[in-house]
Amino acid sequence: MRIDLHTHSDVSDGTDAPADVVRAAASAGLDVVALTDHDTFDGLAEAEAAASAVGIGFVPGMEMSTTLPRPQDPTGGASVHLLAYGCDTADAALLAELARIRAGRTGRLPAILARLADLGMPLSEADVLAQGAEATSLGRPHVADALVAAGYVAYRDQAFERWLYDGGPAWVDRYATPLVRAIELVHEAGGVAVIAHPWGRGRAELLPPEFLEELVADRGLDGFEADHTDHDEDTRAALHELAGRLGVLALGSSDHHGLGKRDNPLGVHTTRPEQYAALLDRMAARSRGAASRLR
Ligand code: AMP
Ligand code: FE
Ligand code: FE
Ligand code: ZN
Repeated sequence: MRIDLHTHSDVSDGTDAPADVVRAAASAGLDVVALTDHDTFDGLAEAEAAASAVGIGFVPGMEMSTTLPRPQDPTGGASVHLLAYGCDTADAALLAELARIRAGRTGRLPAILARLADLGMPLSEADVLAQGAEATSLGRPHVADALVAAGYVAYRDQAFERWLYDGGPAWVDRYATPLVRAIELVHEAGGVAVIAHPWGRGRAELLPPEFLEELVADRGLDGFEADHTDHDEDTRAALHELAGRLGVLALGSSDHHGLGKRDNPLGVHTTRPEQYAALLDRMAARSRGAASRLR
């Protein structure tokens, strides 16, 4: 059984429509796929219908932009991605928060474009929109794709490496939900909260084992990703070991973005079947818990 629990479509910063992501997952031999677009549930209905048409399992997901305040950091806080599975997609508090995140992302676009113009790389908002016509918010990945289209850089990651990285020359801050509040909102919406790629891109110092343990004990964090292209083999093994010790989920995924991330083909990493079974158990328990709070 091959299970990929983290993918993106063009309703956020992937390059393929939700149904096409699911059909590609089936063609890649996956038995279960989750769609986890950034800060939106918009692709889930289309993806779910496509999954039932092609006969593979589907898990409704979302990847929420959160922040850990770090006053000493020039960027003011570090970005942490929180995967959420099985949320009530009509939960008013969560929907309002996602709208706030998306508005913050799109709202700082003019400031990013002003920086790029100062750096000698003028782009218009229409150039960026052309890279995210279906997207529910326009972020740095779409700016990166516009830089590629204009010939300023060769590929999306190069735009981040040179200009758009956190604290970089064309970077502009935006709103994201504090991590502990995001976990709470996901739980209140009946969802399961899993930190994405916790130790990728130098994040190990930000989310050390003691802190992850505290989030599990005090906030009910449900787990974290272990098998991901941003983690080397030793990191993956260490995260599996830690999750086992804490009794939480250790998931695996591609973090597929279509053509947007070249190293993340569907199924490049997958979730172990026993971890998938544990996720389904937690999804059932969390949704029962949220439903009982409403009564
Ligand atoms: P934004 O929400 O507009 O600030 O853009 C954040 C998104 O950019 C993340 O969700 C990632 O998909 C992508 N991203 C962030 N940092 C990098 C990086 N160093 N290289 C490639 N993609 C990145
Ligand atoms: Fe992304
Ligand atoms: Fe992410
Ligand atoms: Zn992702």
